[in-house]
Amino acid sequence: MSWGVDNLPYGVFSLPGESPRVGVRYGDKVLDLTAALHDEVFAAPSLNPFMARGRTAWHDTRELIRNKLTDDLSVTEPHLIPLAQVQLHMPFEVGDYVDFYCSLDHASNVGRMFRPDTEPLLPNWRHLPIGYHGRAGTVVVSGTPVKRPRGQLGEGRFGPCEKLDLEAELGFVVGVPTTLGTSAGAFEEHVFGVTLVNDWSARDIQAWEYRPLGPFLAKSFATSISPWITPLEALPRIPGRPQDPEPVEYLRRQGDWGLDISLEILLNGEVVSRPPYSSMYWTPDQMLAHMTVNGASLRTGDLFASGTISGPEPGERGSLIELTWNGTDPIKLAGGETRAFLEDGDTVTIRATAGDLTLGEVSGTIV
Ligand code: MN
Repeated sequence: MSWGVDNLPYGVFSLPGESPRVGVRYGDKVLDLTAALHDEVFAAPSLNPFMARGRTAWHDTRELIRNKLTDDLSVTEPHLIPLAQVQLHMPFEVGDYVDFYCSLDHASNVGRMFRPDTEPLLPNWRHLPIGYHGRAGTVVVSGTPVKRPRGQLGEGRFGPCEKLDLEAELGFVVGVPTTLGTSAGAFEEHVFGVTLVNDWSARDIQAWEYRPLGPFLAKSFATSISPWITPLEALPRIPGRPQDPEPVEYLRRQGDWGLDISLEILLNGEVVSRPPYSSMYWTPDQMLAHMTVNGASLRTGDLFASGTISGPEPGERGSLIELTWNGTDPIKLAGGETRAFLEDGDTVTIRATAGDLTLGEVSGTIV
């Protein structure tokens, strides 16, 4: 079954008139963990207290929930609430938010578009996972409407964004705080799970503002995440994409942290792209090692995202700017409409599967 015992993602839900608390999705129901496990850590309106307990607790809890849903199902049944009755909330309290740029194909496409006369990749790209600090306070849960941002679109031009875009990404949620120089090998001690991310982007604002300090208002107005956090333990792992040249020592891989996740981007219900996470160049353990190598620490609830996921094929691009080549080749939708960038009323949904598992979806409508 979809959302079966091999999946069991965590989220925060509420019933009408009750406070939000932690649950696990099972089929079309939510298991109320406070009631089922008699553990007050799940009575919190966020996953942070549970995530801070660490990897052994994550594993043991997962085993306990599996038992409750198989051997003890008759006892557990009253604590399974139909999804239709609940409201889903932000699953965790976001600490810091970092966005990377780990797709070779995405970085190459953007390079070709904006620097057609030079090498697509800047000289540093194959040596470190490029990233920037985003805005944690505007990370919102799937279903939250996204207001079209206003800003400077060029010299002397101010108004609503005319090139509103999406970015299909995977986000990694930190459970256990890290300290100086956390090695790539310690990845699964610290990272609790993954969420789908839509890093909404205002391309016209971005093009005018980003030199020399990088993305700012073009990215900070909203970032959407899926309501269910899939535990790292549930995800099928594959070797990462080969890297050339071999990175410096702190970035060397010590495990297989490529992830076999297939994404789909839907625009108003129609699939417009299928980005494969397996094609990513830098792996999440390398992102973690890179973020902490300078002495920076991470806290429970920190979120780091992969950057736009694009595969090598035209039908695998993870943003509209790539799919339409900066608006010059608009997408043709089934109803005869075309899209260069997002229009008011458009709904973008990103959904994903990992083998037999579903990671659910993150959705948002432009208002
Ligand atoms: Mn991004």
